[in-house]
Amino acid sequence: MYYIDPLEVRKLTRDLLPSSREHPVDERLRGWNWFQSPLSPYSSELALGVWEISSAVCPTRRDAWIRRKVLRKSIPTTPTLAKGIVIHRVVSSIFLLAKKLAYLGRYELRDELLREAGRIIDSEIASMKAYARSLEEERLGEFCHRIAKWEATRIESKLWEIKAKYPFLNEESLVQLSFPFSTELVLDGSLLGLSKYLRVDAAWMFGGIIFDIKTGWREEWHRVQVAGYALAFESFFERPIDIGCVVYVDEAAGSLRVDRDFFTISDGLRASFLERRDELQMMLMRDEEPKVAQRCPANCLLREYCQ
Ligand code: SF4
Repeated sequence: MYYIDPLEVRKLTRDLLPSSREHPVDERLRGWNWFQSPLSPYSSELALGVWEISSAVCPTRRDAWIRRKVLRKSIPTTPTLAKGIVIHRVVSSIFLLAKKLAYLGRYELRDELLREAGRIIDSEIASMKAYARSLEEERLGEFCHRIAKWEATRIESKLWEIKAKYPFLNEESLVQLSFPFSTELVLDGSLLGLSKYLRVDAAWMFGGIIFDIKTGWREEWHRVQVAGYALAFESFFERPIDIGCVVYVDEAAGSLRVDRDFFTISDGLRASFLERRDELQMMLMRDEEPKVAQRCPANCLLREYCQ
């Protein structure tokens, strides 16, 4: 998911990175300026999730109000969201196990990674059945096995590529070069009025890129969500994040399609995230119940709780 191909390296080095240097981010919109406007939150009491702020399903944000003020419990989810959850768990568990094995000096990883992925897929789908109506379990299982095969093969091949190039490396250096990203990075977003336990899918280890995995259609708010993680990263580590990448994973004619959307985390994306954060915090803190939207999207999970 996070290995960048040669074409993407060219796009980054010839296009996005030079452009981010020519048009640097407005200093006021860097996460490390969390103590002053427009970064400082409306309230430090109400910690929000980055997804909760960015997601644009309900036009009036009544969805957040219902979740926070009415339901306060888990509700059934859609097959697409369930699919996304299972994919995340499979990918993160494969990378975790691969790193553990590489530290133990084991390099024939593929079969063991696939066995672990099979176990995770079965248990995740079994637990998702309770939450997702009309989940196509068999189809989802097959799709996740395809993802696991693809990822496990790439990981093993990357490890051997690095090992062949630098046969003298110890395990620590080999892991750093073979997995140049932190997966499931936990961030404390409280300086920005965000959750203390934000979880980023992956961040380039040497700084500068945040990755987020999605399945389904591209939507504008996906980039806004990555901008939210970038702001939290900057507030926590005081290091800049200029590039975001949404990795779209989908089924394609018996195979899979992985499409990475790289972009600069511009002032516009940052401002958009902050505006949404402030609006949501104000609405929830002032207990202002939003109106029912005039047009509700078909994929809203809250229809039956909303009226
Ligand atoms: S049913 Fe409509 S108004 Fe209610 S949460 Fe969903 S989108 Fe919003």
